[in-house]
Amino acid sequence: MSKPRVTIVGAGLGGALMACYLGRAGYEVELFERRPDPRSGKVVGGRSINLALSIRGIHALHEVGLADQVLALAVRMPGRMIHAPDGRLSYQPYDKDPDRAINSVSRAGLNQLLVETAERMPNVTVRFDHRCQDVDLDGGRAVLVDNESGAEVRSTGDLLIGADGAFSAIRARMQRLDRFDYQQAYLAHGYKELTIPPATGGGFRIERNALHIWPRRSYMMIALPNPDGSFTCTCFWPFSGPNGFDRLQTDEQIMSYFETHFPDAVPHMPTLVDDFKTNPTSSLLTVRCAPWHYRDRVVLLGDAAHAVVPFYGQGMNCAFEDCTELNRCLQQHVDVGTALASYSAARKENADALADLALHNFIEMRDHSGSAAFRARKAIERILHRFVPGYTPLYTMVTFTRTPYSETVRKARHQDRVVLWALLSLVFVVGVAVILAVLP
Ligand SMILES: Cc1cc2nc3c(=O)[nH]c(=O)nc-3n(C[C@H](O)[C@H](O)[C@H](O)COP(=O)(O)OP(=O)(O)OC[C@H]3O[C@@H](n4cnc5c(N)ncnc54)[C@H](O)[C@@H]3O)c2cc1C
Repeated sequence: MSKPRVTIVGAGLGGALMACYLGRAGYEVELFERRPDPRSGKVVGGRSINLALSIRGIHALHEVGLADQVLALAVRMPGRMIHAPDGRLSYQPYDKDPDRAINSVSRAGLNQLLVETAERMPNVTVRFDHRCQDVDLDGGRAVLVDNESGAEVRSTGDLLIGADGAFSAIRARMQRLDRFDYQQAYLAHGYKELTIPPATGGGFRIERNALHIWPRRSYMMIALPNPDGSFTCTCFWPFSGPNGFDRLQTDEQIMSYFETHFPDAVPHMPTLVDDFKTNPTSSLLTVRCAPWHYRDRVVLLGDAAHAVVPFYGQGMNCAFEDCTELNRCLQQHVDVGTALASYSAARKENADALADLALHNFIEMRDHSGSAAFRARKAIERILHRFVPGYTPLYTMVTFTRTPYSETVRKARHQDRVVLWALLSLVFVVGVAVILAVLP
């Protein structure tokens, strides 16, 4: 059987990586992107300047031969640095093994590398400035508009991959199918990015090798390092109400709020007020849908199939793992319909598990990560991990292993039950021993 010709809509992180996978496997691929080519000099607005890359993403990049190149430009983050309201710092390693780290990478740099790698393959064509506006599901074709000429363009492949992000046009068309499940939920919190520039004369103003968190219970700020010495800070605050973005309207309100809540960050943020007023406040949402495919013609990956809130640093990693799995299914099954069904079934429960983990981790990061109880729990987890064979903390399984997300959750619940029973048994035995010792 000849390989289908593939159209991918969306040359973001997932779509561009999928083009690399399929290009290497010998498929004819057309990759369409609605934005202009970033190399054209046209300004392209974007979200999250940097991202945390971990093992699932690294594995996928390794499979397309790019992992070393990407990691060489990344900043390692082996732990989180917690900033208390009074400016005190406490460092929490992510794992018992200090060599295990998440990696801060530039979204734009990584995206460009993936697109250029795909573009270099003779069987892949990339077309920017093409926006998908409709889909012929039965034909596996996208109907696009050339933004420059206004002309309608039809893709020519037989298999259509929707990698067009959280507001996917391909998924929107699938939503009109009978028995297609779809759910979306916005957080009451949004996010705004700010900057800590490099120190005068170069270098980092705060600890370079850490993900910084200013947890303030119902809201927080985080910062990830960039190789040039700067940090990208992200405020995750409610849109409105107490501690909401809408409360800060004037320069004085912005300065005074930051001086009260993030006092140790303010001296490092010379452009704080301008950044705060200029940079957009964006929303965060979770999308769940099923099935992710239509016959042997259309399939979704990445945020188009499962947008998650960013608090586990796994959205891109999960999108990359989708590519690994879709590629594997296409290699394994000659029949494309079977390959798509098997991919869709395998990934769905994992994406649902990640969506829940990510929502839960927001509460953990903003409410608990600054507390003594949280530090104690993490210390106990590290001790158990070091000394109890088979015990692996949930964060470690999600971030530093390729255990399917749904299995990490099941395993963590089981471990928690075992540890609880072991503690209760210990308390019981000690109690009985004390009673026996004091009895005459
Ligand atoms: C603030 C924030 C921080 C994050 N941090 C992390 C992190 O640390 N680690 C991590 O793993 N993940 C993180 N993520 C998640 C990550 O950004 C996404 O999961 C990832 O970008 C998904 O990739 P994608 O290719 O599926 O979608 P996208 O990156 O959104 O790409 C979709 C592409 O499709 C194009 N497109 C859309 N509609 C059309 C159309 N109609 N026609 C043609 N093209 C179209 C878009 O222009 C875009 O280029 C974060 C997200 C946010 C918002």
